[in-house]
Amino acid sequence: MFLDRDGVINRNRHDYVRAWTEFEFLPGALAALARLKGAGRRVIVVTNQSIVGRGLVDAGDLARLHDRMREAVAAAGGEIEEVLVCPHHPASGCTCRKPRPGLLLTARDHLGVDLRRSVLVGDHVTDLTAAVAAGCAALLVLSGRTPAGAGHGPADGACLGKAWDVVPAVLDLGAAVDLLLGAPREVAALG
Ligand SMILES: [Mg+2]
Ligand SMILES: [Zn+2]
Repeated sequence: MFLDRDGVINRNRHDYVRAWTEFEFLPGALAALARLKGAGRRVIVVTNQSIVGRGLVDAGDLARLHDRMREAVAAAGGEIEEVLVCPHHPASGCTCRKPRPGLLLTARDHLGVDLRRSVLVGDHVTDLTAAVAAGCAALLVLSGRTPAGAGHGPADGACLGKAWDVVPAVLDLGAAVDLLLGAPREVAALG
């Protein structure tokens, strides 16, 4: 499973997440990651962090932030196998910034991921476009750009573009994991 970071694992911020003190796990995200590990699923984060290319954070500080994120996930029983970052400025024309599929192709080429058996969970149309370009399934969460995520205002629903029409949408990462693992708790509750 590929996960976008901001708006999926942690709360979006208008002014970027620059430091660990600004990194806030979304409700249920740590538990969802633990369930994925329990189900034996590989988890790889694919994240645009133009904050590096913009000169606001250096790559070493971002790597340390990701180390702390992975440590917190591990302490809660989950595992993030790898964090693949596009650090480039949007104007750089790089091949890794989503909606381009470069990060996913890197996972295929260097981590042995079978993209046709993978799902990307993201909160923005660019995440979903990258997944489609790489031949992955995609799932939209509403925890980033909508009032449900509270990180952006309702107007940011425009970020979802037409993805809304074609990709399944669920509230958050916990609901995405329910769907992908067959939602055993909900089925049991209904039974
Ligand atoms: Mg995001
Ligand atoms: Zn890039």
